[in-house]
Amino acid sequence: MEEGKDMPFEKLNKFEEAELEFDNRAFEVAEGICKHCGEKLMNVVENKSILDGAITFHIIKLRCLKCGKEYLDLDQAEKYDFLLTLNKAVESKKALSFLTRKIEE
Ligand SMILES: [Zn+2]
Repeated sequence: MEEGKDMPFEKLNKFEEAELEFDNRAFEVAEGICKHCGEKLMNVVENKSILDGAITFHIIKLRCLKCGKEYLDLDQAEKYDFLLTLNKAVESKKALSFLTRKIEE
């Protein structure tokens, strides 16, 4: 399989950004109120695809319309962790097959 070759770099970078953002556990909220300004949070859905779109996760985030801060509730944070783990597994598999190909050349 030639997968991994045509994975655009910008797509990978997006995942890294998201990972940094959601690694911060302080952003988790159990109730729909902004910790920063006490405003009611709005639900927003963010779609994250892996395996070139073969699997898409719908992550529900809570966004404060006043200050723009985004939160994940606990269930969604777990889902997001799973997505990142899966994505890492896919990437390391790709890296491995790339190395194997190099050695065989
Ligand atoms: Zn706020």
